[in-house]
Amino acid sequence: MMWRRKRIIRDGKTKKTYRCPICGKTGALVASKTVEYLMINKIDESLSLEIFSLCMSPDCEMAYYSADYGYILLQRDIKVPIDFKNDADIKYACYCNEITIDDIRHAVLKEYASTVKDIFRFKGKVIVEKCKLNNPFGCSCIADINKMIEEIKLGNSGIL
Ligand SMILES: [Zn+2]
Repeated sequence: MMWRRKRIIRDGKTKKTYRCPICGKTGALVASKTVEYLMINKIDESLSLEIFSLCMSPDCEMAYYSADYGYILLQRDIKVPIDFKNDADIKYACYCNEITIDDIRHAVLKEYASTVKDIFRFKGKVIVEKCKLNNPFGCSCIADINKMIEEIKLGNSGIL
């Protein structure tokens, strides 16, 4: 059973969503500081006034695009592989600790991990301060890890 991320973060003020210029599907809004942090080629001007969306299509090469399409960043233009994209070579569940979905699957099925704490203990590291920066959605990975653990316990793939 495959699960797709359903998280759509709407702009608090406009409640608008924006379509990907490549695939035409509605993207998820993300903070411009997330985009600024993850882009490989830094630019001089501030992006703080731009409204960015993340393309949610697994088979689309688009990562982030601004509302007026003035800024277009493909997967290859950003620092981390976006986990739900089909061609992501590594599927991270937690970007800051570099914990993959396979790591979690292994910990739950082989080491009987049942909480986020267990997962971190098996990996031997816990850094959560950088979650909001390294995660392409700009939010903490903890909630997603919890959901993945539950899915794996239920016998699903753990892919959200
Ligand atoms: Zn797209």
